[in-house]
Amino acid sequence: MTARIIDGKAVAREIEQEVTAGLGRVTWRPGLVAVRVGNDPASEVYVRNKARKADELGLRGEQRIFPESMSEADLLAEVDRLNHDNDVDGILVQLPLPKHIDSKKVIDAVDPAKDVDGFHPINVGLLHLGREALVPCTPAGVMRLIDSTGEKIEGKHAVVIGRSDIVGKPQAALLLQRSATVTICHSKTRDISSITRQADILVAAIGKARFVTADMVKPGAIVIDVGINRVEGKLAGDVDFERVREVAAWITPVPGGVGPMTIAMLMRNTLTAAQRRRA
Ligand code: NAP
Repeated sequence: MTARIIDGKAVAREIEQEVTAGLGRVTWRPGLVAVRVGNDPASEVYVRNKARKADELGLRGEQRIFPESMSEADLLAEVDRLNHDNDVDGILVQLPLPKHIDSKKVIDAVDPAKDVDGFHPINVGLLHLGREALVPCTPAGVMRLIDSTGEKIEGKHAVVIGRSDIVGKPQAALLLQRSATVTICHSKTRDISSITRQADILVAAIGKARFVTADMVKPGAIVIDVGINRVEGKLAGDVDFERVREVAAWITPVPGGVGPMTIAMLMRNTLTAAQRRRA
């Protein structure tokens, strides 16, 4: 079997069209502010792309860039100011933050109604309760990719490798909400292959290039590769794409799979936050 490719760029475009259509029905433009502290090169690209995409779709995207030396108190004051700015619907503080700033304090300071990353404990709690929440963009994007296959999620065994707050844990919560039977694996999991081989849906969010090999995959599985790794200057996922595609039924490529979904879902979250706040 050669797997069908799940085209993240195409699904992301669909979401962008939904956002544009949503904006066509309102008179205001949602405001998204992306805050960056310091000069981490990857963060520079992410923040610029997020603000740019917002503008492209007709939102008001803005970058706020502060020096590495910014104090925690000053960043908290900035977040507080954005919380109270009525023109701002979505706030995201790009992680990682410099070491002298406690990112937990900063995440907790963002108004949950404007928390378009879905990282605030209130949104995390709502998600786990199965209630209306702003959901982290990457796992929300993964759900859209799985849905784009037309395969049912209910009753399937979904295995998530990785338990980070940003991807693994919310991914598991979203799959559970859709009535998958969910197993979470992590670095202390024993005999991981015996678990991944049971997966009808396998989501890899590890950060280790080509960790998932063909012998770890159940024939006919849906394989979603969240990983972004650099190998000899090239992007590689957490899945050995070339070999796993011979076993799986569906697979996401890297790049062009999960990556494009994250920014698209951020735009959707910003519109959702604005709709709820301005209703
Ligand atoms: P993370 O915080 O480093 O978490 C990695 C997870 O993988 C941890 O739970 C860790 O287990 C687990 N892990 C590490 N080694 C393992 C092993 N040998 N066996 C089983 N599990 C293992 O990373 P993250 O933020 O979730 O990101 C994961 C990957 O996705 C990265 O490559 C990142 O760049 C990528 N990513 C992509 C997007 C996108 O838009 N496409 C967005 C976010 C992240 P422990 O908890 O036990 O340490």
